[in-house]
Amino acid sequence: MGSNAELPPLTRLVSYAYARADKNSHAHFRRGELTKLLRLKNRQATNRLIARAERDGWLRKDSGSECLLVPEHITDHAYPPSLCPRGNEHDDDVIGK
Ligand SMILES: [Zn+2]
Repeated sequence: MGSNAELPPLTRLVSYAYARADKNSHAHFRRGELTKLLRLKNRQATNRLIARAERDGWLRKDSGSECLLVPEHITDHAYPPSLCPRGNEHDDDVIGK
């Protein structure tokens, strides 16, 4: 997606999230990775964009820059679940559904 600079940041954020979502509807990113991918100024800008995506229903609440929570109807369960860097904070409401 490197050549998609013309797409709005929100669209790119959601695309990255949906492309990477695992079986538990988590999309994990390394620290600072999303800010870099989205070519945003800093972590605050990234968090603002994530908050907007949550508000608009593209992502589920409790998403963070290292873990985006994708609406469950998006994932196709083709990939095995991965460990969540945010720990158990938001796992309870995802696993088992
Ligand atoms: Zn996670």
